[in-house]
Amino acid sequence: MEERDVVIVGGGPAGLAAAVYCRRAGLKTVVLEKGNWGGAINRTEEIENYPAIAHTSGPEIGKMFVDHAKAFNAEMVDCTVNSIAEDGKFKVVSTSKGDYKAKVVIVATGAEFRKLGCPGEAEYTGKGVSYCATCDGAFTEDCDVAVVGGGNTAVEEGCYLTQFASKVYIIHRRDQFRADEMAVERMKKNPKVVPVMDSVVESIEGDGDMVTKAVLKNVKTGELSDLPVEFVFMFVGTEPNNQLVKDLVKCTEKGGWVVTDKDLMTSVPGIFAAGDVRDTNLRQVITAASDGALAGMSAYKYIAENF
Ligand SMILES: Cc1cc2nc3c(=O)[nH]c(=O)nc-3n(C[C@H](O)[C@H](O)[C@H](O)COP(=O)(O)OP(=O)(O)OC[C@H]3O[C@@H](n4cnc5c(N)ncnc54)[C@H](O)[C@@H]3O)c2cc1C
Repeated sequence: MEERDVVIVGGGPAGLAAAVYCRRAGLKTVVLEKGNWGGAINRTEEIENYPAIAHTSGPEIGKMFVDHAKAFNAEMVDCTVNSIAEDGKFKVVSTSKGDYKAKVVIVATGAEFRKLGCPGEAEYTGKGVSYCATCDGAFTEDCDVAVVGGGNTAVEEGCYLTQFASKVYIIHRRDQFRADEMAVERMKKNPKVVPVMDSVVESIEGDGDMVTKAVLKNVKTGELSDLPVEFVFMFVGTEPNNQLVKDLVKCTEKGGWVVTDKDLMTSVPGIFAAGDVRDTNLRQVITAASDGALAGMSAYKYIAENF
């Protein structure tokens, strides 16, 4: 079995920032990633809130994180982690490319989009139902599009879609958006955006090949109406990628977010968590990177004190 000081699960901002700090502390470190290096941020075009970088794109900043970890010779392996287990003082991380024995594991597996769960959503995923404006926005050229949600992601991604789509309906179940004021103001000035308040999507219908309409229900009147659209983008929240640790470490009862102490250690000594998977109040690149830095330094301290 391969041995490392630190195994980092997840090659997003949290995992890659942790790798920089672990490597700079001289720890033998491997980062394991099953999908796109750079993580979830690859799925957006516009990043305007990472301090010191006034404007960049998701793939660009993702690449900067990757390059930075590489510059410190972090080992980076494409594989899926299947399980994490305790083995005395050590941990065993089983992957699609073999097992690693580690003194510390940093779980930086991020979070996933929540599904709405309405009829037609699963059937038309990839046929008009999407969770990623960056990935699918270009396909909406001259189409009418529905965006579901009321937070920052819904409002910002809805505005982003207006560069392609003819009209973007933003459907929100309440009478006020949850998104921050600046984002809402920008949305209101966009002539292609039509907010549809107090409404939920009851079902998504199509012709078998593509979405043709969303059926909406007004939550105040109960009235049903058809909204002819070719795309429905869902931005209704996120869920932690906690599958590897949910039966091993303490997670929040509501939501299943991984609970950590101030050093980002979980309820199991030697297992740390960083970034979006963690029970935290803000899930952004800056907070994921900050978590990664702290988890990396905490890993160093833990190894120095326990091995
Ligand atoms: C559409 C969109 C727009 C956004 N816009 C902004 C923005 O403007 N500004 C901002 O600051 N943030 C934004 N965010 C949020 C930001 O992307 C996240 O907060 C950040 O990426 C979290 O980093 P992370 O490293 O914790 O998780 P992630 O970036 O999700 O990385 C986790 C990684 O772990 C990998 N992984 C999971 N399970 C396994 C496994 N079993 N084995 C191996 N690998 C695994 C995943 O493939 C993933 O790459 C946006 C996110 C999205 C989706």
